Amino acid sequence: MLKVSGIDVFYGDLQVLWDVSFEIKQGEILVLVGANGAGKSTTLKTISGLLKPARGSIEFQGIYLDQLKADQVISHGVVHVPEARRLFREMTVEENLIMGSLAPEAKKKRADTLEWVYELFPRMKERRKQVAGTMSGGEQQMCAIGRGLMALPKVLMFDEPSLGLSPILVQEVFEIAKRINKEGVTVLLVEQNVRQTLTFCDRAYVLENGRIVLHGTGKELLNDVHVREAYLGI
Ligand code: ATP
Repeated sequence: MLKVSGIDVFYGDLQVLWDVSFEIKQGEILVLVGANGAGKSTTLKTISGLLKPARGSIEFQGIYLDQLKADQVISHGVVHVPEARRLFREMTVEENLIMGSLAPEAKKKRADTLEWVYELFPRMKERRKQVAGTMSGGEQQMCAIGRGLMALPKVLMFDEPSLGLSPILVQEVFEIAKRINKEGVTVLLVEQNVRQTLTFCDRAYVLENGRIVLHGTGKELLNDVHVREAYLGI
């Protein structure tokens, strides 16, 4: 469904991704795991059109996303829930959600999508008039995911949704990702939280110092000697 082929990405002169390739199949939950600074956020920013690869391509259902601007990538249904939520803190929950549906197609279906998001997140419905910046970290994460859903994603990319959340809330966020996936949305998740993500994903790739070093099913990677030593401390 989405194919990243041999991308090199730089910040100025500094190269942070080397020949990164991976594929996302329709309907799956794919995870990119890696330590701090491995290049996970950079990979998502490149898919979303915020950064351009110096080499390689990103193909989504026959369209080269690397040739498009960020708003065009969203219009094609590839949507990014950024790290640290990046909500409009002074705006209400509902205003934040509406900001997710600015593309023409999403705008047309806004009222129905809002109902769907409120069904998925009853807590957001209760708090729809609350200023987003005053909510708890877990609630803000739900609002950020809800805003992503308002864009009618075919692929929803989550950048470290577990960041700053308690283990129980992390579990809740992963359950939400599963529910969204069951509703037909393909999920790409990047995470440092290796143990929990490998347990729940279909397949995963391991990113180290800007390079993909391993891939397999979550179960295969949980049993891999390198993953166990480097990430699980066993
Ligand atoms: P984290 O979990 O800490 O966000 P990550 O795997 O998402 O890690 P990236 O944020 O993609 O990693 O960063 C990869 C490398 O690129 C790091 O060495 C980082 O310092 C560097 N980097 C990230 N953003 C920039 C930037 N705007 N300018 C220069 N270097 C950057």
